[in-house]
Amino acid sequence: IQESNPMKTINDEIFVYVTKKQKEIDELKKLELFRREFLADVSHEFKTPIFAAQGFIHTLLDGAMEDDNVRERFLRKAANNLDSLDVLVKDLLVLSQMETGDIKMNMTRIDIRRMTINIFSRLENVASQRNVSLRVKPEDLDAVWVMADQDRMEQVMLNLIENAIKYGNENGKVIVHFSETKKHVEISVRDNGPGIPQEHLNRIFERFYRVDKSRSKERGGTGLGLAIVKHIINAHDTKIAVLSKPDKGTTFSFKLEKALIDQQPEKETPDPA
Ligand code: ADP
Repeated sequence: IQESNPMKTINDEIFVYVTKKQKEIDELKKLELFRREFLADVSHEFKTPIFAAQGFIHTLLDGAMEDDNVRERFLRKAANNLDSLDVLVKDLLVLSQMETGDIKMNMTRIDIRRMTINIFSRLENVASQRNVSLRVKPEDLDAVWVMADQDRMEQVMLNLIENAIKYGNENGKVIVHFSETKKHVEISVRDNGPGIPQEHLNRIFERFYRVDKSRSKERGGTGLGLAIVKHIINAHDTKIAVLSKPDKGTTFSFKLEKALIDQQPEKETPDPA
């Protein structure tokens, strides 16, 4: 029988302990770096609309107010910049709630086809400005029932469809396609726009990452849309995929669990008072 060496055991334990502590320190350092980068990004994103609105208001106060045309134009520009700031703050709040896990998912049975059509009508103006046609496929489906959090899924579909309109081609098409298997429904949002270059594809879900900064800003983007989409999709225990080919277009797709007709009521009914 070989006797165990107590020194060796102690050394092993110390080694394991030091390695564990080092890992914790590395993790904390990473978090700290992430926090600093996040603050720098956020401050930078805030600065642009604040400086712009300030500029217009100060120019008005310095005398430009006298001219009726200039006054109206500058006030509108200041208001637009403050509106962008408002969208940015709202998106940031959603993102931080998602990241800290503060959002409770309320899974119900929803007709995602009907939801998509409603979103199409909300985006009618944006689409007609670029002469983009919006379709669901297959066309003859009545309803597509899935389990999802209604408000969050609406945000996902709105972001993906709005992006497809904004970054797709003028006179282009956006198609939302549903394909059902026994247990799941695959939902894809396709455009026939210029596509996303390969080297950007795995970064577009990062907060504030934009392929073309000026284009995103000109179209009212905060750079947070896809980061929010990814969080919401992950909170549904599923994943989002993106496929893009230059000049052929981009497709975002994900799967949701199919809802059986008698699985759950469509909406939770409130308890009687
Ligand atoms: P943004 O507010 O800039 O639209 P998103 O997070 O929604 O932010 O998207 C990130 C970037 O991904 C966009 O700035 C754009 O460059 C690119 N992008 C998103 N959707 C598409 C699309 N359908 N076609 C081409 N590029 C896209």
